[in-house]
Amino acid sequence: MLRIYSEYPLLKFRWETIGKNLSDFNKIILIPYQCAGFFVELILFSNGKKMKTKKAELVMSPPHPHMVGDGFRVHNFIPSGYHLDMQRMDPFILLDYNSKYYFPAIEKLRGVGVHPHRGFETVTIAYHGKVAHHDSAGGGGVIGEGDVQWMTAGSGILHKEYHEEEFSKNGGDFQMVQLWVNLPSQHKMTAPKYQSIKNSEINKVILEQEAGVVEVIAGDYKMIKGTAATFSPVNVLNVKLNEGGKALFNFPANYTTALLVIEGKIKVNDQELVPTDHFVLFENEGEEFTIEAMKSSVVLVLSGEPIHEPIVAHGPFVMNTRNEILQAFEDFNTGKFGYLEDNDH
Ligand code: MN
Repeated sequence: MLRIYSEYPLLKFRWETIGKNLSDFNKIILIPYQCAGFFVELILFSNGKKMKTKKAELVMSPPHPHMVGDGFRVHNFIPSGYHLDMQRMDPFILLDYNSKYYFPAIEKLRGVGVHPHRGFETVTIAYHGKVAHHDSAGGGGVIGEGDVQWMTAGSGILHKEYHEEEFSKNGGDFQMVQLWVNLPSQHKMTAPKYQSIKNSEINKVILEQEAGVVEVIAGDYKMIKGTAATFSPVNVLNVKLNEGGKALFNFPANYTTALLVIEGKIKVNDQELVPTDHFVLFENEGEEFTIEAMKSSVVLVLSGEPIHEPIVAHGPFVMNTRNEILQAFEDFNTGKFGYLEDNDH
């Protein structure tokens, strides 16, 4: 069936339109037409057999926090968490979580000054507080509550990340996720890009029985496409459940799948109770899992196809070979990443 998929571009288009995986169907009937050129009609039968449950492999409490610059108090789950190294978590290479933390009012701006990245994408999801971003490719803006910034570092970028001015002056709760998504080798040197996604622009799926809403940041959920463009199959879902609300998820067995409880308390697969700020890694087996909210909850769900390429990471550069890392340092030191003024501190 996969062979057919690659031989007929129209079929590929159809699969993408449907946004489903082949494994979701147990019977496929092809009816060829001859009508204004060759045309193929696809009829899909929903899978009669029960999907296998994707079980939780580990539930992890937040590791001791550390400061990134003076603006981000983060728990690092990926890659330093138990079993959560870059190989195991492929294609996710970093997850820093600033759990809800009160920053008092201050005149200066807290944050991280100018620094480079190459070879991957940084995704910032703001739950509380505001971050102002500027980069050497001309990208910039404020990431407000509920907004997402999807930055492709690609061949190289300089950026700075500071608390937004008004937020700094007033102080307040700050809660944010920064996720790094690796790029396949053929895209590591792609031109830098910046997707600023306001909450109102994120595609949403309203769940039945007033269970809640799923914000499809990337990938897809129930045939609704994510707002962010990605270079490899990656699902990033922000799941908001009302108390008692339940949602079902279905990803290919081999995808690396995890979740982080941002607010509330959930039960996974009717078994594992997972409180706020805890992380769940799923087995790379089975497809389906459920989340039930014990009280009103917000859950970040991640699922991505492993890239299966060598990972050589050094600080802000993530490449495939050691030579590429040396090249990144040389390019950075010789000004090939451009220029960005740092006058915020
Ligand atoms: Mn950065």
